[in-house]
Amino acid sequence: MALRFSEQPESGETEEAEWRKGEVEERLTHALVKGITEFIEEDTEEARLKMGRAISVIEGPLMDGMNHVGDLFGSGMMFLPQVVKSARVMKKSVSYLVPFIEAEQKGTEEAKAIPHVLLATVKGDVHDIGKKIVGVVLGCNNFRVTDLGVMVPAEKILDEAQRLDVDIVGLSGLITPSLDEMIHVAEEMRRRKMTIPLLIGGATTSEIHTAVKVDPAYDAPVVHVLDASRSVYVVRSLVSRDLRRSFVEDVRFTYSARRERYAASRTRTEFLTLERARENALVLDFSVDTPPVPETTGVVDIEDVTIERLRDYIDWTPFFQAWEMKGKYPAILDDSERGEAARTLFDDARELLDEIIRNAGIRLEGVCGIFPANRRGDDIDVYQDEARESVLATLHTLRQQSVKTQGRPNRALADFMAPGGIADYIGIFAVTAGHGIFELVSSFEADNDDYRAILAKSLADRLVEAFAEFVHQQIRTNLWGYAVGENLSSEDLLSERYRGIRPAPGYPAQPDHTEKITMWSLLDVEKRTGISLTEHLAMNPAASVCGLVFSHPEAAYFNVGLLGRDQVEDYSRRKGYTLKEMERWLSPRLNYDPAE
Ligand code: SAH
Repeated sequence: MALRFSEQPESGETEEAEWRKGEVEERLTHALVKGITEFIEEDTEEARLKMGRAISVIEGPLMDGMNHVGDLFGSGMMFLPQVVKSARVMKKSVSYLVPFIEAEQKGTEEAKAIPHVLLATVKGDVHDIGKKIVGVVLGCNNFRVTDLGVMVPAEKILDEAQRLDVDIVGLSGLITPSLDEMIHVAEEMRRRKMTIPLLIGGATTSEIHTAVKVDPAYDAPVVHVLDASRSVYVVRSLVSRDLRRSFVEDVRFTYSARRERYAASRTRTEFLTLERARENALVLDFSVDTPPVPETTGVVDIEDVTIERLRDYIDWTPFFQAWEMKGKYPAILDDSERGEAARTLFDDARELLDEIIRNAGIRLEGVCGIFPANRRGDDIDVYQDEARESVLATLHTLRQQSVKTQGRPNRALADFMAPGGIADYIGIFAVTAGHGIFELVSSFEADNDDYRAILAKSLADRLVEAFAEFVHQQIRTNLWGYAVGENLSSEDLLSERYRGIRPAPGYPAQPDHTEKITMWSLLDVEKRTGISLTEHLAMNPAASVCGLVFSHPEAAYFNVGLLGRDQVEDYSRRKGYTLKEMERWLSPRLNYDPAE
């Protein structure tokens, strides 16, 4: 069939009306490429009656459309949000056809040679936007996808992989403990003598980690997949009899080169002992910048914040990134190539936001506290009250150990706090925009609407970041009140042109997720907000953010970098963990091999 839309026509009423007059096969293919669901059921039924068999509708016009979408996406003429919308048309049409197909196939043994990919977010992790996108994109490239959801233990993933006899397993995760969990899954696959390829994806995963840590744990191919567009190429190569061999050889070669370079760089990097690093700590003069005394101390529930209120605090650039559209907001809306797709996505997002506001589909919950606190070495003692005698809890921080250029300190977050004798304070907060998201997403999924399901999740992520920005501002200008006169535009806020920082555990300045346990008990976070911590200390629901608040004007974000054994030993003693436990939590950060 001739496809008339290789250069995508602009949508317009007259043109749509024109299309409605064509043959039903063409109309279906057109609807698919353009992502139009309006007439999908009636067109599907018309095509089924005309073509005789339900399966012919899928194999004919729908696959033609999806192939075309795949080509346009592959050549950069179509963008992810549009692909997900096309997949929605496909899904709606297929779900209409399924009962007919089952009736047609009854009693016959129709072989299904479609490659089957099993996807799962690993144990202890709850993030799945990227994985969902990969699933949708693979689905529209004619792969069968089974998604086991989030927080899936290795045993369940592999039991299902074997039971369903899938061709590929894909793991996803966002937080650093998931990296270890992925190694564990790889080891289990080896132990079970499995031979199917393993894909590794998600925000903290990297080619280097996959090459150095995961690949050696399993004999069959292990491949890091960066984004949805690449996943199609990788999966297609891995299941193709012709392409597999050279693809796998390529990957093996690349990864082994990666490992060699990594080993070489590790021995080359100059590294300080913890003692030397401490001698080069950042020393602030607290008599110049006297720590500001808070208006309020203690724990406060954050109430009466509406989504409407958070609108102006939303940082849209990462929203487009989540949809794999590179570019800065608002410029991306006028981009000559992706502007149209970006504008449509943005309109859809704002429309859904309005709907969420109207239907109260998301509930915001948050808590924060400001406490008297002082630095003690690399730790921060948090006191019950201004008497500073009874320590409620101790926060622990890690120090940079790499050799710095002259005049640059080896920093730890504790350096931003005044030592005992000078009254200082620390803020802590946890917020979520995740309550209600599960129900919202489930209702979209029940309607075969992955597009809106992913849109809702990506919006919740934006809302919770906006919420954190808002709470941080409330702390500065109101609760702590050290920046009462602060008058910053949304752009200033998003560029962090304010005094102080709000580092989050699991991020570069404090890579240790276990600090959340202390924060949770200090603020009674779970009871007050409903945000729980998984066994790997991911926050659940996923759209949650927490952090410490430092007021010092010199406080800045930094990267702790790799840690020496001396520091990990010292840190585990300070925290009351065994060295082994501590090494497990910090494993991607160790400058040494704990087995040595
Ligand atoms: N406007 C962004 C804000 C989130 S990213 C958005 O909407 O997505 C910035 C946040 O990440 C910071 O506020 C801080 O909590 C965390 N962060 C960034 N760099 C960090 C670092 N080096 N150490 C600790 N936390 C960091």
